[in-house]
Amino acid sequence: MRRQRKAKIVATLGPASSTMEAIEALFQAGADVFRFNFSHGSHLDHSARYDIVREVERKVGRPIAILADLQGPKLRIGQFAEGKVTLAAGAEFILDRNPDPGTAARVCLPHPELFAVIGAGQALLIDDGKLRLEVIESNGDCIRTKVVAGGVVSDRKGVNVPDVVLPIPALTEKDRRDLEFALALGVDWIALSFVQRPEDLLEARELIKGRAGLLAKLEKPAALDRLDDIVGVSDAVMVARGDLGVELPPERVPGVQKRILRACSRQGKPVVIATQMLESMISAQVPTRAEASDVASAIYDGADAVMLSAESASGAYPVEAVAMMDRIISEVERDPLYRSVIDAQRGDPLPTRGDAICAALRSVTQILGARVTITYTTSGHTSLRAARERPAAPILSITPHLSTARKLALAWGVHTTVSPDVRSVDEMVSAACRTALREGFAQPGDQVAIAAGMPFAESGTTNLLRIAEVWAQPA
Ligand code: PGA
Ligand code: MN
Repeated sequence: MRRQRKAKIVATLGPASSTMEAIEALFQAGADVFRFNFSHGSHLDHSARYDIVREVERKVGRPIAILADLQGPKLRIGQFAEGKVTLAAGAEFILDRNPDPGTAARVCLPHPELFAVIGAGQALLIDDGKLRLEVIESNGDCIRTKVVAGGVVSDRKGVNVPDVVLPIPALTEKDRRDLEFALALGVDWIALSFVQRPEDLLEARELIKGRAGLLAKLEKPAALDRLDDIVGVSDAVMVARGDLGVELPPERVPGVQKRILRACSRQGKPVVIATQMLESMISAQVPTRAEASDVASAIYDGADAVMLSAESASGAYPVEAVAMMDRIISEVERDPLYRSVIDAQRGDPLPTRGDAICAALRSVTQILGARVTITYTTSGHTSLRAARERPAAPILSITPHLSTARKLALAWGVHTTVSPDVRSVDEMVSAACRTALREGFAQPGDQVAIAAGMPFAESGTTNLLRIAEVWAQPA
């Protein structure tokens, strides 16, 4: 089983996509990675989905990545005596630490850290930015604000404070419990929400201890001030446009998306574009033209993956949404303009042996018109450096570790198979050719280019480039 496209699809699972039939249908339609959203659902829900995804993986014989998305420090207001109130523009409204039910004059904000760092003139947004308050003054117990954009506000609505770096860790107590639970299940990627600084990732990495890849969700403007450092300490990145578009004016999101894509491509870190990609397909069988264009633009810009949230988790047409993404991506990748854009965007390789070999791998493939580039990888590093080169030929990646194969399902252009370690270059060449034949990447007589590192079982040793001709072999 082999997909013909390079960019990948991440589909969030939820109530609309939790049965064996539904999840298998999503995979067949094109989902490469399944996202478990820990903002919703119980541990029981997630573990049931985990077992089903692994069962589907066995059935289809392809590695599938599972991404556990931790909720992070999402701020929320407390509750109102009547469940909701209406705030009028121009009125004053107070957020305090008093747990009593709120009124049209005040409500509890159960996040003591915030009171000391927010100041006069700064914005406080409620309910995905629908209501906008401007801070008049704040002391240790009370934030006095003026309502700039009013409306109805109800219990436990989310709060965004775009202008401040919050003095809080990126992992809440709930996140720590969810993280341990997800790692015990065996997920491949952990997504950290509301990352503000590189230290947030280091803290998570200490807890993960190599058991999963670490993906930074960029949804706070503060993260953009230290973008390169954050990308540097992440294994992958998500442009989380939902919260980012609340914390920043919407007109700034497209430029920021391109900036993040550029930063990730330079460092060769997989990047996922997320949220509202096919939003109208939550309730319609076809997307708007603007949504189709949004997905296509992300692909032209070099995204590794595009993501569905409610479209696949709770919408009426999960399979149709994945199939639509698959068609949009495939169409872009067939466009000759796409290749010229991708080639023009390619950054220079870093002065490392891995990058030197992978740059040579791409150019050898191109000069010889080879059908496939093949990478031997232990940790996944060689395959990611090859993906960073964005070769025209597919990347057939071979690893002895199932966990590496699963993780690489997120990466642009990479098709990974698991196969026992080889001991010599001859063994490597013949295993590579056999795999290319079996997986449908080459035919007898085709040339292939292979990158690997010797000694074979060690990671981070990329130092070998080999050109071989595929010959007909007994099965
Ligand atoms: P969320 O993250 O769906 O967990 O909020 C994505 C986003 O904010 O875009
Ligand atoms: Mn978010």
